[in-house]
Amino acid sequence: MSQEPHPEPHPEPSLLHRSLLQLPHTVTHAKGSYLHLSTGRAILDGCGGAAVAILGHGHPDVLTATAAQMHQVSYVHTLSYTTSAAEDLARAVLDRENCPSYAHGLVRAFFVGSGSEANDAAMKLARQYHFELGHGHTTRKVYVSRRGGYHGNTIGAMSISGNVARKKPYLDTVLGNVSLVSPAFAYRFQRVDEGESEEMYAARLVREVEEEFVRVGPENVVMFSGETVVGATTGCVAAPRGYWRGIRELCSRYGILLHLDEVMCGAGRTGSYFAFEREGICPDIVTLGKGLGGGYIPVAAMLVSGGVVDVLRRGSSVFNHGHTYQAHPVACAAALAVQRVLRRERLVERCAVQGGKLEGLLREAFGGSRYVGDIRGRGLFWALEFVRDRKSKEPFDPEIGFGAAVQEKAFELGVAVYPGAGTVDGERGDHVILAPPYNVTDEELGMLVETLKRAYDAVEQQVRSKSQT
Ligand SMILES: *Cc1c(COP(=O)(O)O)cnc(C)c1O
Repeated sequence: MSQEPHPEPHPEPSLLHRSLLQLPHTVTHAKGSYLHLSTGRAILDGCGGAAVAILGHGHPDVLTATAAQMHQVSYVHTLSYTTSAAEDLARAVLDRENCPSYAHGLVRAFFVGSGSEANDAAMKLARQYHFELGHGHTTRKVYVSRRGGYHGNTIGAMSISGNVARKKPYLDTVLGNVSLVSPAFAYRFQRVDEGESEEMYAARLVREVEEEFVRVGPENVVMFSGETVVGATTGCVAAPRGYWRGIRELCSRYGILLHLDEVMCGAGRTGSYFAFEREGICPDIVTLGKGLGGGYIPVAAMLVSGGVVDVLRRGSSVFNHGHTYQAHPVACAAALAVQRVLRRERLVERCAVQGGKLEGLLREAFGGSRYVGDIRGRGLFWALEFVRDRKSKEPFDPEIGFGAAVQEKAFELGVAVYPGAGTVDGERGDHVILAPPYNVTDEELGMLVETLKRAYDAVEQQVRSKSQT
């Protein structure tokens, strides 16, 4: 038999990619704000993947610390052992110096490998908290979260997510004990034309959450989860003023734990170390992820308040959960190096300053653009939402793929941004997210916005000429 096993000139990859049809670009090396492709092209990374690379790529401190940890101790099991890398990372993340004027009340950190795992840990810890509080009995089993929010892709984290597209094939296999309430999304849902102010909108949303608690029975609710500033699903959406205070007050009144998912918006991304500092509240549980390790290593954290730890201490004194790779020494050493650079170079403050510049550039470039309905964000975390009609806020037909077209064009012109679809209701709507590293230069910011504008203009031109024929 002389038959070739692979008659095609390009054999199928062995790696299961996100798409079976489209091959991703091969990156040969990356440095600072730039990705270098196998084709020889350089791409200005304007979004750090999915708002991950907070220091850019190839920071020497992180490389040195990671390699040193590998030499020192690469793995131990947390049942019997701990390492200074893990202990020091916990201290660094909880350190008051991250937010000197803010008593956040978080006293323990639990490290895992992904944001989804961190959120699953939060779901389990919250349930165990009530279980221990009731000496082995609790009626609490319902998780309340929001439509248009994203918490991850494991069964638990997916179940509390409102991201419609990602749940579609699994709708009858996700957890049934989850209630989804309205997103806090002023551009889309504040009734401005009926005279509803930001505070009135926040109060309406808080009333809806209370009604849901009462409908389910507040004695049955484990936890309320939400992204302090919503990331990928709706594009950098901060809640209306007073919303989080209202939710905090409600949760405290009914003994329901409050979990803030800061996997994307935390670790400085919005210009303060925790996004919730701007909201004047303290959550019971916080999860961090993307910015914790800055993309250098898979790592995420669950941070726990003193009140929750105390209940466990008075009960079983054991967190009934764990993973083989929890608090992995190398992951913790890499993340610790990232956090130390953040502190030493005052990059959270820098993020706030550069964020102000980015906002100015975006408003100047896109303020009058025909199809840009909203420009929103905080810190170095900004989104453009695209609409067919600025007045009615009518989104584009999903078949047009406006956001994806802008992202593709920008990539062609040398800039990476993070696209999102389903902005309005999970099906319709388009946005792109900008999330450059905190050490981004003025020049890079200028180039990022200028290139994105050229990409947008090209797509606008295309869509306009099509709609005229
Ligand atoms: C990315 C993300 C997650 C999931 O993190 P993974 O590391 O992809 O599992 C959870 N919550 C939010 C807000 C995220 O942005």
